[in-house]
Amino acid sequence: MTVANILAAKGRTVTTASKTDSIADICTVLAEKKIGAVVVLADDETIAGILSERDVVRALALNGAAALDQPVSSVMTVEVVSCREADSINDVMGKMTEGRFRHVPVTQNDHLVGLVSIGDIVKAKIAQIEADAEQLRSYIASA
Ligand code: AMP
Repeated sequence: MTVANILAAKGRTVTTASKTDSIADICTVLAEKKIGAVVVLADDETIAGILSERDVVRALALNGAAALDQPVSSVMTVEVVSCREADSINDVMGKMTEGRFRHVPVTQNDHLVGLVSIGDIVKAKIAQIEADAEQLRSYIASA
Protein backbone atom coordinates (compact mmCIF):
# COMPACT_ATOMS: atom_id res chain seq x y z
CA MET A 1 0.00 0.00 0.00
CA THR A 2 1.29 3.47 -0.86
CA VAL A 3 0.76 7.09 0.11
CA ALA A 4 -1.23 7.49 -3.14
CA ASN A 5 -3.78 4.93 -1.82
CA ILE A 6 -4.24 6.97 1.36
CA LEU A 7 -4.69 10.23 -0.57
CA ALA A 8 -7.21 8.56 -2.89
CA ALA A 9 -9.31 7.67 0.18
CA LYS A 10 -8.94 10.86 2.25
CA GLY A 11 -8.45 13.55 -0.41
CA ARG A 12 -5.69 16.04 -1.02
CA THR A 13 -6.91 19.03 0.92
CA VAL A 14 -4.31 20.27 3.42
CA THR A 15 -4.89 23.00 5.98
CA THR A 16 -2.11 25.54 5.56
CA ALA A 17 -0.95 28.71 7.28
CA SER A 18 1.40 31.57 6.51
CA LYS A 19 4.49 32.54 8.50
CA THR A 20 2.86 35.76 9.71
CA ASP A 21 -0.28 34.17 11.16
CA SER A 22 -0.38 34.35 14.95
CA ILE A 23 -0.32 31.30 17.22
CA ALA A 24 -3.80 32.36 18.38
CA ASP A 25 -5.01 32.12 14.74
CA ILE A 26 -3.55 28.62 14.49
CA CYS A 27 -5.20 27.52 17.75
CA THR A 28 -8.56 28.53 16.26
CA VAL A 29 -7.86 26.60 13.04
CA LEU A 30 -6.65 23.46 14.88
CA ALA A 31 -9.71 23.52 17.16
CA GLU A 32 -12.27 24.23 14.41
CA LYS A 33 -10.90 21.64 12.00
CA LYS A 34 -10.13 19.08 14.74
CA ILE A 35 -6.60 18.57 13.40
CA GLY A 36 -3.17 18.45 15.02
CA ALA A 37 -0.96 20.37 12.61
CA VAL A 38 -0.84 22.90 9.78
CA VAL A 39 1.68 23.10 6.97
CA VAL A 40 3.22 26.57 6.62
CA LEU A 41 3.58 27.78 3.05
CA ALA A 42 6.00 30.38 1.67
CA ASP A 43 4.84 33.00 -0.85
CA ASP A 44 5.85 30.73 -3.73
CA GLU A 45 3.63 27.96 -2.27
CA THR A 46 6.60 25.78 -1.32
CA ILE A 47 6.75 24.36 2.23
CA ALA A 48 8.29 26.81 4.71
CA GLY A 49 7.60 24.74 7.84
CA ILE A 50 5.14 22.73 9.87
CA LEU A 51 3.46 23.68 13.14
CA SER A 52 1.71 21.20 15.39
CA GLU A 53 -0.16 21.41 18.69
CA ARG A 54 3.08 20.29 20.38
CA ASP A 55 4.81 23.48 19.16
CA VAL A 56 1.95 25.55 20.56
CA VAL A 57 2.22 23.82 23.95
CA ARG A 58 6.01 24.39 23.96
CA ALA A 59 5.58 28.11 23.15
CA LEU A 60 2.95 28.49 25.90
CA ALA A 61 5.22 26.77 28.42
CA LEU A 62 8.08 29.10 27.48
CA ASN A 63 6.28 32.42 27.13
CA GLY A 64 2.87 32.05 28.74
CA ALA A 65 -0.16 33.74 27.18
CA ALA A 66 2.15 36.15 25.28
CA ALA A 67 2.96 33.20 22.98
CA LEU A 68 -0.49 33.56 21.42
CA ASP A 69 0.65 36.80 19.73
CA GLN A 70 3.86 35.29 18.34
CA PRO A 71 4.04 34.66 14.60
CA VAL A 72 3.99 31.10 13.28
CA SER A 73 7.53 31.59 11.93
CA SER A 74 8.91 31.86 15.49
CA VAL A 75 7.54 28.49 16.57
CA MET A 76 7.30 26.26 13.48
CA THR A 77 9.70 23.45 12.58
CA VAL A 78 11.66 24.48 9.48
CA GLU A 79 13.35 21.20 8.58
CA VAL A 80 10.27 19.37 7.33
CA VAL A 81 10.44 15.67 6.43
CA SER A 82 8.11 14.97 3.52
CA CYS A 83 7.19 11.96 1.39
CA ARG A 84 6.10 11.19 -2.17
CA GLU A 85 2.91 9.54 -3.41
CA ALA A 86 4.84 6.47 -4.55
CA ASP A 87 6.32 5.87 -1.07
CA SER A 88 5.05 2.84 0.83
CA ILE A 89 3.08 3.26 4.04
CA ASN A 90 5.86 1.39 5.85
CA ASP A 91 8.40 3.99 4.65
CA VAL A 92 6.26 6.80 6.06
CA MET A 93 5.77 4.89 9.33
CA GLY A 94 9.56 4.62 9.56
CA LYS A 95 9.96 8.38 9.06
CA MET A 96 7.37 9.10 11.78
CA THR A 97 9.00 6.69 14.22
CA GLU A 98 12.51 7.97 13.57
CA GLY A 99 11.57 11.68 13.67
CA ARG A 100 9.01 11.30 16.51
CA PHE A 101 6.28 13.22 14.67
CA ARG A 102 2.77 12.31 13.54
CA HIS A 103 2.36 14.31 10.33
CA VAL A 104 4.13 13.99 6.98
CA PRO A 105 3.38 16.35 4.06
CA VAL A 106 3.26 14.79 0.59
CA THR A 107 5.10 16.71 -2.11
CA GLN A 108 5.46 16.65 -5.87
CA ASN A 109 8.03 18.92 -7.54
CA ASP A 110 8.52 20.67 -4.19
CA HIS A 111 4.83 21.52 -3.93
CA LEU A 112 2.36 20.29 -1.33
CA VAL A 113 -0.12 17.74 -2.71
CA GLY A 114 -1.40 16.13 0.50
CA LEU A 115 -0.70 15.23 4.12
CA VAL A 116 -0.54 11.87 5.86
CA SER A 117 -1.15 11.66 9.61
CA ILE A 118 -0.45 8.76 11.96
CA GLY A 119 -4.23 8.27 12.12
CA ASP A 120 -4.34 7.73 8.34
CA ILE A 121 -1.54 5.18 8.63
CA VAL A 122 -3.26 3.25 11.43
CA LYS A 123 -6.54 3.23 9.45
CA ALA A 124 -4.80 1.94 6.31
CA LYS A 125 -2.90 -0.72 8.26
CA ILE A 126 -6.09 -2.00 9.94
CA ALA A 127 -7.88 -2.16 6.55
CA GLN A 128 -4.94 -4.11 5.13
CA ILE A 129 -4.91 -6.58 8.06
CA GLU A 130 -8.69 -7.09 7.78
CA ALA A 131 -8.45 -7.70 4.02
CA ASP A 132 -5.63 -10.23 4.56
CA ALA A 133 -7.65 -12.03 7.27
CA GLU A 134 -10.74 -12.16 5.04
CA GLN A 135 -8.66 -13.61 2.21
CA LEU A 136 -7.29 -16.30 4.55
CA ARG A 137 -10.80 -17.09 5.85
CA SER A 138 -12.19 -17.62 2.33
CA TYR A 139 -9.14 -19.66 1.36
CA ILE A 140 -9.63 -21.95 4.38
CA ALA A 141 -13.42 -22.20 3.77
CA SER A 142 -12.89 -23.20 0.13
CA ALA A 143 -10.13 -25.76 0.85
P1 AMP B 1 3.52 16.08 15.80
O1 AMP B 1 3.82 14.76 16.41
O2 AMP B 1 3.24 15.96 14.32
O3 AMP B 1 2.48 16.84 16.55
O4 AMP B 1 4.86 16.96 15.83
C1 AMP B 1 5.83 16.88 16.87
C2 AMP B 1 6.97 17.84 16.52
O5 AMP B 1 7.56 17.49 15.27
C3 AMP B 1 6.57 19.32 16.37
O6 AMP B 1 7.64 20.11 16.81
C4 AMP B 1 6.39 19.50 14.86
O7 AMP B 1 6.64 20.82 14.42
C5 AMP B 1 7.42 18.55 14.32
N1 AMP B 1 6.99 17.92 13.06
C6 AMP B 1 5.76 17.46 12.75
N2 AMP B 1 5.75 16.92 11.53
C7 AMP B 1 7.00 17.01 11.05
C8 AMP B 1 7.63 16.64 9.81
N3 AMP B 1 6.97 16.02 8.84
N4 AMP B 1 8.95 16.93 9.65
C9 AMP B 1 9.64 17.54 10.64
N5 AMP B 1 9.11 17.92 11.82
C10 AMP B 1 7.80 17.65 12.03
